[in-house]
This record gives sequence, C-alpha cells and structure tokens, in this order.
Amino acid sequence: MEQFVKGLPYPYEEACKEIVRRRNSYESADKLVRHAIHAALQLLRTYHFDQQNGILVNCKKRSECSIHLTWKQYQSKLGVEDTDN
Ligand SMILES: [Zn+2]
Repeated sequence: MEQFVKGLPYPYEEACKEIVRRRNSYESADKLVRHAIHAALQLLRTYHFDQQNGILVNCKKRSECSIHLTWKQYQSKLGVEDTDN
C-alpha cells in the first residue's frame, strides 16, 4: 500500500485524501454504472427484431408495427420470462 501511494503523481497527503475520496465514491459510482447499463438495455428493448434479416431495427411504428417482433414478443417466443421488470 505504502509503495502504491508513493507511486501516485500526488504529494503523499494528497494521495491519501484522493484514495479516501475514491473509496467513499464507490457506492454512488456503482449505482451510476448500474443505472446507465439498465437505461441502455431499456433503450435497446424499444428496438424491434426484424426476423427476415435477423437484425434489430429502430422502428418508428412502435406499437402500430406488425412486421417486427417487440422485445416482449421475442421473449415469449423463446419462452423466457423477463426478470428485469
Ligand atoms: Zn417494427
């Protein structure tokens, strides 16, 4: 630990303060990352699956769409329950 602190590009006392600050930020950083991943997955689930081409598409028709599979339709087709919601 001592070696590590001395290797940081800060004066010793500043390095110690920085380590404590980062340790105290761990929980909020963890929450932020989890939230970002959740939001990204939610956004991805708004995409529709084009079965013909085997790709996800950003379909503008949303619930009016009849040619693609929504996330829920795709899941029920696979027989998987959505554990995130
Ligand atoms: Zn669609």
